Amino acid sequence: MSASERVLIRQAHLLATFDDSEREWLGGSVLVAGNCIEALGAHDDVLAWIAADPARRSAESTIDARGCVVMPGLINGHHHLFQTLTRALGTGEGRVLFDWLKLLYPVWGQMNPEAVRVSAKLGLAELILSGATTVADHLYLFANGARVDDEIEAALELGVRFHPTRGSMSVGQSAGGLPPDHLTETEDAILSDSERLIAHYHDPEPFSMLRLGLAPCSPFSVSADLMRQSARLARSHRGVGLHTHLAETLDEERYCVEHLGMRPLDYADAVEWAGTDVWFAHMVHPSPGEIEHLARHGSGVCHCPTSNMILASGIAPIREMLDRGVRVGLGVDGSASNDGNHLLGEARQAMLLQRVGWPGFESRADRFSAREALGLATRGGARILGRPELGSLAVGQAADIVGFRIDDLEHAGAQSDPLAALVTCTPTRVWFSMINGRRVVQKGELQGIDLPLLVERHNALSRAMLEGAGLR
Ligand SMILES: [Zn+2]
Repeated sequence: MSASERVLIRQAHLLATFDDSEREWLGGSVLVAGNCIEALGAHDDVLAWIAADPARRSAESTIDARGCVVMPGLINGHHHLFQTLTRALGTGEGRVLFDWLKLLYPVWGQMNPEAVRVSAKLGLAELILSGATTVADHLYLFANGARVDDEIEAALELGVRFHPTRGSMSVGQSAGGLPPDHLTETEDAILSDSERLIAHYHDPEPFSMLRLGLAPCSPFSVSADLMRQSARLARSHRGVGLHTHLAETLDEERYCVEHLGMRPLDYADAVEWAGTDVWFAHMVHPSPGEIEHLARHGSGVCHCPTSNMILASGIAPIREMLDRGVRVGLGVDGSASNDGNHLLGEARQAMLLQRVGWPGFESRADRFSAREALGLATRGGARILGRPELGSLAVGQAADIVGFRIDDLEHAGAQSDPLAALVTCTPTRVWFSMINGRRVVQKGELQGIDLPLLVERHNALSRAMLEGAGLR
């Protein structure tokens, strides 16, 4: 579409903005001009706004949103897209993180550039169909010439807003780390490739479609010096975020105390990882003092409930974090410790896990509502990624807008609260998705992608990796 083309998303069953006032309209419409929102509100008010000024041309095209809940596109804050290649490997058995990683590292070591590109495309397609319009990814393993560029290529093809983070592992088994030595890189190579990627791809401006982050993998796979150097490198550029796994499991906490002499967040603090440019995946096991520390420094947390359940990691105290003012977003985590890429479904998991984690006899409004769960996936994601122009619908905000049907089989009878129904009922796929003003999904179909062909190629690559690792 041209920069000025207008699209009217008309007469949504419910328009939910997730803006500061949490405005919602039955029968609401949104007028999009180019890549941002020009007007929104009750349908008649939007039409009256257009008619009030002859300079305001009416929309060139419309999206009929009757029967849909229309809301901001969802934001995925943590992922390893390459892991779609190894779904259902070990997850059926109840393994915990370290045992699961040791099973999967050799298979991931079989990856090549095509496997990274194809798995990213497949995982992103699944995410977009589940409502995601912005995706952060964490690629930390670079076997056989694979590079971050390979997944960026896939994101550009699909038109999703992308936050790739350049991951890294530099401490192998021989040095007391968890990954096999041959899957680690030298710290010089990691830092120079990080610099190259920032120079080549990073766009710090508002409405950016691609922002880089730096992401040493975890306390048990990189050195303190790499953590510190990565933080300094990121901060020498505008808008480059810092991301890592932290406080994911009790095993990790024990590793930190034994090998580093301190708890995970103290370690992060010691290597200069605190601030609004930092977001940690998981934070399942923070102490009350650590929650206070996160709130005080503005460091973000990406909650990954399904992964935390599959790997028996625990229940992150998200209710308490939100109440204390911590910035919290939502992520599906790698497809192999979730075995899915359904971001709306992840919001449902977040809602359910917070409720079951603190059972009781009283009904409580703060038990964790559907709107709070959806808020993690919208405003929360925008906050941890430092993207105020995303995650809510208002005049001037980015035109990242999705619509879910509410008049289908799964939502029959859910008339009383259609927005909550998106996560209290079975989560479904989007009916339409617009990213940066471009229509990416129409009538439930991802545009311009042959999905069966993509799945076939993906599975051939997956089989080759299993065979290469001697698991087939
Ligand atoms: Zn992860």
